[in-house]
Amino acid sequence: MNQESKNYQHQPRQAETRICQNCGKEFTIEPEDFEFYEKIGVPAPTFCPDCREQRRIAFRNERALYKRKCDLCGKEVVSRISPDKLYPMYCKKCWWSDRWDPMKYGRDYDFNKSFFEQFKELLFSVPHVSIFNANTVNSDWVNQESDDKNCYLNVGGHFNEDSAYNTYELHSKDCFDNFWIFNSELCYENINCDHCYKTFFSQNCSQCQDTILSYDCRDCSHVFGCAGLRHKQYYIFNKPVSKEEYQEFLRNNPISSYENLLKLKEKAKKIWLSVPHRATNVVKSVNSWGDVISESRNAKNCWYSEKVEDSKHLYITAWLKDTYDCSCYGTGELCYEVAHSVGFYNSKFSMFGMGGNTAEKISSSNLEYCYEVLNSHNCFGCVGLRNKEYCILNKQYSKEDY
Ligand SMILES: [Zn+2]
Ligand SMILES: [Zn+2]
Repeated sequence: MNQESKNYQHQPRQAETRICQNCGKEFTIEPEDFEFYEKIGVPAPTFCPDCREQRRIAFRNERALYKRKCDLCGKEVVSRISPDKLYPMYCKKCWWSDRWDPMKYGRDYDFNKSFFEQFKELLFSVPHVSIFNANTVNSDWVNQESDDKNCYLNVGGHFNEDSAYNTYELHSKDCFDNFWIFNSELCYENINCDHCYKTFFSQNCSQCQDTILSYDCRDCSHVFGCAGLRHKQYYIFNKPVSKEEYQEFLRNNPISSYENLLKLKEKAKKIWLSVPHRATNVVKSVNSWGDVISESRNAKNCWYSEKVEDSKHLYITAWLKDTYDCSCYGTGELCYEVAHSVGFYNSKFSMFGMGGNTAEKISSSNLEYCYEVLNSHNCFGCVGLRNKEYCILNKQYSKEDY
């Protein structure tokens, strides 16, 4: 132990301002952050939180999809990996089968070479899966999705039917072009809406039906261009109207005309801006900040996150505890720099661990620098493994040697 780290041991850490090595801007590391990094055994980051987020998201190709031939069976399939990439790609059926063995790509660790050089060589030699979707019916073009039926170009959602072009759609039907929509039906062009029916061009609405161009409305029906309403029916631009007046308005102002829609949007926007807005959508949460957070405690700098505890710097996450710096990740504890995955315990710098179809339990633990590794424990720098333990660069070790 050098003198510097000895000194740290006996002094409570102070917040430190550092310069991001990527964007050159200042960022702060709080005393609680140092405690977390010590607990999980990593050095403090050199990139700021935003640049760290960008680094994780850069690995996620959502909708740039291609037709590419499977390098095992030769069948042409939809792939998130373009045909010009030199590393092998297997179709879903082949990749998930026992027809190949990722351990065959295993290699000795060379202490004369950098780890990242060796990891990159392994990463580019092991076959990658064409696309991340599971348990889908007639939904070849959905990515990072599961349990869909008749869906097209959806990303990041689960349990949807007859839907297309949605990003993070859950348990919904007949929905097109929405971002972050749950338990809804016949919805189009909405952001952050749940339990809605026939809701179009609206934002932050809940339990609404026949709602158009509206913002922050709850338990409303037949409202048009409204904002901040609760338990209301038949309102146009935040003014009550009769049922007949409402229907006549719709007849005279069809949103099927794009020109007309743009005019109505302008008018609706004025109403949206006229009502007080919640500073953030943080609900049923304690000591938490960010936006669209629910049922969380001590969730800091978290965005689109629910049921998160003692965690920081998260984007699109759920059911996490004691976790920092994760994106598109659910069900985990003591994790750091994990993305596009489900169900890790005490794991770092890992991606695309999908844990099969069980989204609600821990399936892997003690992973570091693992990519497309499933149901595995105590692995370092591995790619494409499943049901393995004590592996380094896809090579098997005894527990003691590991
Ligand atoms: Zn930065
Ligand atoms: Zn194949």
